[in-house]
Amino acid sequence: MWKRFYPDERAKSVRDIDYEAFLRRGVRGIIFDIDNTLVPQDAPATEETEEFFRMIHALGFRTCVISNNTEERVKPFAERAGSEYVFHARKPLKRSYRKAMAFLGTDPQTTLFVGDQLLTDMFGARRLGIPCVLVEPISLKSDIATVRFKRKIEKWILKEYEAKK
Ligand SMILES: [Mg+2]
Repeated sequence: MWKRFYPDERAKSVRDIDYEAFLRRGVRGIIFDIDNTLVPQDAPATEETEEFFRMIHALGFRTCVISNNTEERVKPFAERAGSEYVFHARKPLKRSYRKAMAFLGTDPQTTLFVGDQLLTDMFGARRLGIPCVLVEPISLKSDIATVRFKRKIEKWILKEYEAKK
């Protein structure tokens, strides 16, 4: 019953994903969560962020960042990353994932989703059949209370997930 929250793969960070393997499988567009996936909560994009996105784009992927956060937070980040963006995404609603795929010109089979939360990020991607990779959150210190509560549930679901593997 928890399957709908399971990631297809887990990785330590966005830098530990085998993107070329996804390229070989036909993936052409990647949707990234921002907060705690690419940078700490509310942190701006850095030199490393820009370099990371240059690498991803050089491989041949198009990218879109997606966030439940505000446009003021998301737009400048996306601009530095050279990425499309969706703000106020209200993940796990399907609408915002569809919007991101429209920007990318991809469908669920040719899209990859990367995020740090099961109940929003992974659940939303799975509802549309988009392959998804769960990364470890960059920093837990800045989590607000509701996120901290979700992390507890997620920890429990992940235990089930690992046990079934
Ligand atoms: Mg996040």
